[in-house]
Amino acid sequence: MATKLLMAKSPEEAAVSKTASAAFVAGGTEVNRLGSDIAEKAETLISLKKCSGLDGIEADAGYVTIGAMCTFQDLVESDKVPGWLKEAALFMASRTKRNMATIGGNIAARRSDSYLIPALSAAGAVLELLGSDTKAERIGIVEYFDGAYDDKLITSVTVEKDIRLVSKRYANTAQSHAVLTMSAAMDEMGVYMNGAVKNVGLLHFCDLEKAFNDDPEISEDKIIEMVRTCTGLETADDMFGSDAYKRYLIAVTAFDLFKQLKGKEV
Ligand SMILES: Cc1cc2nc3c(=O)[nH]c(=O)nc-3n(C[C@H](O)[C@H](O)[C@H](O)COP(=O)(O)OP(=O)(O)OC[C@H]3O[C@@H](n4cnc5c(N)ncnc54)[C@H](O)[C@@H]3O)c2cc1C
Repeated sequence: MATKLLMAKSPEEAAVSKTASAAFVAGGTEVNRLGSDIAEKAETLISLKKCSGLDGIEADAGYVTIGAMCTFQDLVESDKVPGWLKEAALFMASRTKRNMATIGGNIAARRSDSYLIPALSAAGAVLELLGSDTKAERIGIVEYFDGAYDDKLITSVTVEKDIRLVSKRYANTAQSHAVLTMSAAMDEMGVYMNGAVKNVGLLHFCDLEKAFNDDPEISEDKIIEMVRTCTGLETADDMFGSDAYKRYLIAVTAFDLFKQLKGKEV
């Protein structure tokens, strides 16, 4: 159980103070959530609330760089943030929570029903991280999930502004957990598809990308059959739906997002 609270004044102080027995707190909506064991397992909580320089949003040469402490509501209200990211931020239906929860906290929480990770991954977002040696490094968001960066502070997220990107989220109500959140982006190299499947994980749909890139006229039936028989996908029956339902949902959503992208202007 955490017994110490450090109010870091700078990103460097926060990064240097991070040890295996400490945890960062940004908006606190995941750390302090009922059922979360983050604060339970930590001895020290490092609050980022008073850290300078983590809450700006800068647009430059087609890219937008967002400080890790920007809240979901900051994203929604900024005229620099692209529409596709505002749409993903609005998947968090509670305005009270949007006023607290941060983009950095959402990425670091790595939830299998993540609001933002599918869109940020399909967009090829780049994270700036600060380690305990206070050296800054930039990595692709997908690399962040390989486990080697858990102790590093996310300081900012950079995305391309004019990317073609569409998303879809399925939940019983706007406030419920989503069984599937999926995003697809397209550029001259082809399509990129990422998703979050509740209790399964954060997924990069490489086979679907290849199928659409190889044959942009592929039928919906072929996509449904491909996902139905995919051995690399480990979904299971649970309260969010059967394995067959989740596979069907992924397939029809992929087809629909691809169709939307083909008809969408930047
Ligand atoms: C009722 C309820 C429902 C929820 N439903 C969802 C949901 O459907 N989908 C979803 O994605 N989330 C959900 N959440 C969790 C949470 O609201 C979001 O994930 C939120 O974006 C977390 O942001 P935060 O700033 O509050 O993070 P915090 O709670 O402060 O931190 C979350 C994690 O990120 C780490 N962290 C925070 N900032 C940084 C940083 N800059 N660098 C490195 N590590 C950092 C913390 O140590 C912690 O491990 C829910 C929470 C509640 C209470």
